[in-house]
Amino acid sequence: MDKRTIVKKFAVYGRNVHPLAVEILKDLDQKNLDNVIAYICKTVDSFVISPEDVMRALKSYKFEEKPKRDVKDVTGKSMCEGTIEDFIAYFKSRFEKVSSFVRRRIGGIKVSALEKFRNEQVEVVGMVKDVRDYGEFAMFDLEDKTGVVSVFAGGKLREVALELFDDVIGVVGIYRNGRIYADRIVFPDIPIRERARRDFGVVFISDTHFGSREFLEREWDLFTRWLSGEVGSGRLLDLAGKVKYVVIAGDIVDGVGIYPKQEEDLLITDIYSQYEYAAEQLEKIPKDIKIYLSVGNHDAIRQAEPQPALPKEIRDLFSNNVVHVGNPAYVNLDGLNVLIYHGRSLDDLITKIPRLSYDRPQEAMIELLKRRHLCPLYGGKTPIAPEREDLLVIDEIPDVLHSGHIHTYGVGFYRGVLVVNSSAWQAQTEFQRKMNLNPTPCNVAIYYNGEVGRLRFCK
Ligand code: FE
Ligand code: ZN
Repeated sequence: MDKRTIVKKFAVYGRNVHPLAVEILKDLDQKNLDNVIAYICKTVDSFVISPEDVMRALKSYKFEEKPKRDVKDVTGKSMCEGTIEDFIAYFKSRFEKVSSFVRRRIGGIKVSALEKFRNEQVEVVGMVKDVRDYGEFAMFDLEDKTGVVSVFAGGKLREVALELFDDVIGVVGIYRNGRIYADRIVFPDIPIRERARRDFGVVFISDTHFGSREFLEREWDLFTRWLSGEVGSGRLLDLAGKVKYVVIAGDIVDGVGIYPKQEEDLLITDIYSQYEYAAEQLEKIPKDIKIYLSVGNHDAIRQAEPQPALPKEIRDLFSNNVVHVGNPAYVNLDGLNVLIYHGRSLDDLITKIPRLSYDRPQEAMIELLKRRHLCPLYGGKTPIAPEREDLLVIDEIPDVLHSGHIHTYGVGFYRGVLVVNSSAWQAQTEFQRKMNLNPTPCNVAIYYNGEVGRLRFCK
């Protein structure tokens, strides 16, 4: 808070304030500051408020604790307009954040300092540009704030290099004739950790596509009846009773106008009615289960990532046990940290990296963790909003990374982190049939006590 504003705030109460007193107060946040000033003026009689008055007041004043946030996403924080400056700031933020992870693993000198070296080993951290394949070897450029250097990747490193996009990585190798001959490519990656164990169940689902003709209502009913303890027996029924959270990774509704001639595939053609129907279907989940609802590319919200949560008029349709979050979103479920990301970039990764496949979504998701970024490929099918802070960087290491979007089921553990793609509630569409995409709908992942189980609600 600037000092003149503080002086003015005291003036409202008819008081003057000593400059040193202002100095003490200037670091308080807005809300506490207003309350503290009101408190001082109520408890102190003198016309000029002294530093001692302030110190005494601060000792007896009860500060409001900041509410503990259990969601981190872009909702209400979007600042970008898509200008050139925004893009520069966006990439700067991405570089700064991800390079700090790489620097935990290797040292690194500036590109501009390379010229001092001759046939010596160097370590450089930078952003990859322009990967070229020459058959026997590959080359790419590595850029930091001070310059660009080309990197030669031969042998096995050629394959690693060909899987690089706009990644921030480290290169270890010999600097000779103006280029680095790489011995090692270092990803930011995540450290190995223990699996999270909790004594409650978390159910992961995605891509309900309410409103689509292909929405699988009978299977959905079976699922919600299981959650309600109406069907199943033995261990399965016990497990239902343990579920405290349901996390949904977006594409709640099928949307309207998402692709050409979509109306032919819709049962409900009005977007608002689709969400009314969605709210009705989520009512079938017992109220003591908290539902975290994220968004995807079929939802009624801006397409560019990071996406904010649904607009208020839609949120209001849902009952109180539904928490609306953006995409991506970090959510804290009683200490279990879940990173929800709808998964649009998985399309790009699976298309560009031949060893990845739609049948094993978990392998593509592991790439995101390794690269510490939810969309390592800029300019693919995933539109990105250039926020000043790159919220697609995986800053915190979650206990669970949860996606959907590609409508196939796959789970795995990577360095202790559960990766789960929990398929869909929509049968194969005409479009998917033409594209030879084979969804595995109605598969549900449940995480309980460090173990992940697969439940099939398909007939
Ligand atoms: Fe979807
Ligand atoms: Zn999607």
